[in-house]
Amino acid sequence: MRALRLKEWKSEPELVEVPDPTPGPGQVVVRIGGAGACHSDLHLMDEFEPGTMPWNPPFTLGHENAGWVHALGDGVTGLSVGQPVAVFGAWGCGTCARCRVGVDPYCENPSAAPVPSGGGGLGLDGGMAEFELVPDARHVVPLPEGLDPAEAAPLTDAGLTPYHAIRRSWPKLPPGSTAVMIGVGGLGHVGVQILKATTAARVIAVDTRAEALRLAEECGADRTVTSGPAAAEEIRDATGGRGADVVLDFVGTDTTLALGVAAARTVGDLTIVGIGGGTLGVSFFSVPYEVSIATTYWGSRPELVEVLDLGARGLVRPKTTTFALGGALDAYRQMRDGTLEGRAVIVP
Ligand SMILES: [Zn+2]
Ligand SMILES: [Zn+2]
Repeated sequence: MRALRLKEWKSEPELVEVPDPTPGPGQVVVRIGGAGACHSDLHLMDEFEPGTMPWNPPFTLGHENAGWVHALGDGVTGLSVGQPVAVFGAWGCGTCARCRVGVDPYCENPSAAPVPSGGGGLGLDGGMAEFELVPDARHVVPLPEGLDPAEAAPLTDAGLTPYHAIRRSWPKLPPGSTAVMIGVGGLGHVGVQILKATTAARVIAVDTRAEALRLAEECGADRTVTSGPAAAEEIRDATGGRGADVVLDFVGTDTTLALGVAAARTVGDLTIVGIGGGTLGVSFFSVPYEVSIATTYWGSRPELVEVLDLGARGLVRPKTTTFALGGALDAYRQMRDGTLEGRAVIVP
């Protein structure tokens, strides 16, 4: 089969011919119907180096995958060949306290996982290929009626990551509250839809790019703010001076983190999802009282089931551009240039 492989750090991936995978006991091979191209893949190609992660190339890219069950290993029950499925992308040890409740991204025994702190497309072979080997059937989640694999693929990361970040703040988002989404890219625009579908909060979207703000409006944002020196003031004005109950930073640079603090309301949440590498000095007087600052990474398997339900019911629909496997490098190029709208999905 053909696969888009990252052969070494700081290099462009290459489309090459590799053997078809075969499932061992307890494993599943999925025929890929969609593999999302994630902004974090650019970090893999451009910035990561030996020692950044506990794993190294070569591996096939693509950590956002869905398709159809193609082959089942010995002992796998409850799935049938041809069944449409999504792949839960973080592959932990399966037995620690976190993995047992489906929170594999926070696995506490990573040395017992198929690869420490990774998954398909992150140290092991992912879905930018005709087939993907999933090392444990528990990561294969049946798709609900009404959702095809190409639509489901981006929900496994671009949907699941903002869903997890938003879900934990639900108690702070009653009617009358305000949520601020900083960064309306592949994840942020889905986040706006999730906020609208699951809370009654007013949603303010912030980005530097006019077309991203247009996309935010399309996704239901109540108000858009252009990122810049006046943004915090604008958010405070829009909230009667109080600030935003929940700020979700999908960029994570010094600038956006400072904006997040300046825009947050007392007792609010500032949740950092973007891996922009910025830092934030926290001291008693530097943030509004009782603001909780947290990072989140990906989401849980039960949450993926919930996101797929939102997708199947049409409440959350990532905006996507489809590329063939041979066009995957174009997709990343457009992402790098900032000309890609929404999420790129590779359909092999
Ligand atoms: Zn990702
Ligand atoms: Zn674990």
